Amino acid sequence: MLMDLSYILNELGEDRAAYFNAVAPPIIQSSNFACPTVEEFRYALQHESEVDFYTRGNNPTVDILEKKLAALEGTEHAIAFGSGIAAVSAAVLSQVKAGDHVVCVNKPYTWANALMKKFLPRFGVEVTMIDGTDAENYRLATKANTVFYYLESPNSFTFELQDIAAVAAIAKEKNICTIIDNSFASPLYQNPAAMGIDLIVHAATKYISGHSDVMGGIICGSRETINHIFEREYMTLGAVLSPHDAWLLIRGLRTLPVRMERIAATTRQVIAFLEQRPEVAKIYWPFLPGNPQFELAKKQMRNNTGQFTIQLASEDVPEIERFCDSLQHFLMAASWGGHESLIYPTVASYRDGNYKSNLPYNLIRFYIGLEDPDYLIKDLEQAFTKMKG
Ligand SMILES: *Cc1c(COP(=O)(O)O)cnc(C)c1O
Repeated sequence: MLMDLSYILNELGEDRAAYFNAVAPPIIQSSNFACPTVEEFRYALQHESEVDFYTRGNNPTVDILEKKLAALEGTEHAIAFGSGIAAVSAAVLSQVKAGDHVVCVNKPYTWANALMKKFLPRFGVEVTMIDGTDAENYRLATKANTVFYYLESPNSFTFELQDIAAVAAIAKEKNICTIIDNSFASPLYQNPAAMGIDLIVHAATKYISGHSDVMGGIICGSRETINHIFEREYMTLGAVLSPHDAWLLIRGLRTLPVRMERIAATTRQVIAFLEQRPEVAKIYWPFLPGNPQFELAKKQMRNNTGQFTIQLASEDVPEIERFCDSLQHFLMAASWGGHESLIYPTVASYRDGNYKSNLPYNLIRFYIGLEDPDYLIKDLEQAFTKMKG
């Protein structure tokens, strides 16, 4: 990060003198912006990516958020979307045409996976999914028509890492674009641009919002690439972030560092507790000293975040369900990144003895929120006691 974090979060992009010295920026809830003269109208039409003319393009409140996120990721520019997957889709679509080939890490986030496996092939784009734990697999899967490598590190549900700098170096050698979903690490704890990645995507719905009350996405990259996305995918697909939602995300950013520190510390305490429990067979978490990618995690991430997955020792479906149902303070839900701790059990996909997934049914993904560590640990303790029935 080139600028002071406190400057980025508290001042960058804001012009308080322009709005009564209000500390919180105004929500410019307007779809349209008028031009006083034909000359200015003409200028606006020719420079739509630079001026506030129509909110599907630019909006002053959204603009503040974009400046802060570009600075957090150390890129020249950023563009905001109405959801994380809208940002992923726009980044991906901006790089491909029919006849191209892409290489993607195995089992990325559900809808990124659907984009790769179901959507791109409809438009004549071929996708090879690879085990990303060895960067060389990207090289081995590369063809003459490969246009980008897709990364997600840590990876969904089991949190495998890719060696980001190594994958970026292979891509540079071959003149291939790189896109990473950096949502799991947050823009504070991992900055892929510094490791050579071209486009960085976040589901702002998660850590950046921090309160489970807004959907949003962001792409960070060079001015040239972001302007290219603005002219094409952004303006035509129209997955725009509303000014009010941008305002909520700016508010989320103000407390991001304290939230992330708290979440990181509580997660370490909860994991220390779980490591001692006989009911837990395995913990998927890159920062566990026994994890084969522990050194890589310390090298490319500044700190741990709040997600990890446990595998229960039990393979008994009623026992697994009893444990989950007995938790009183962990909510059972999708998503993560808010104030509230969550679990997501894979057994929820288990029906009539059929489990349609590559993942074992005794996995539980955890997200640790802002509650007191003891409050969470006591909850886990009592749920383990009830598990055996
Ligand atoms: C949630 C999530 C997304 C999608 O974000 P939405 O705002 O739900 O569209 C993308 N990537 C990862 C890693 C996520 O966890």
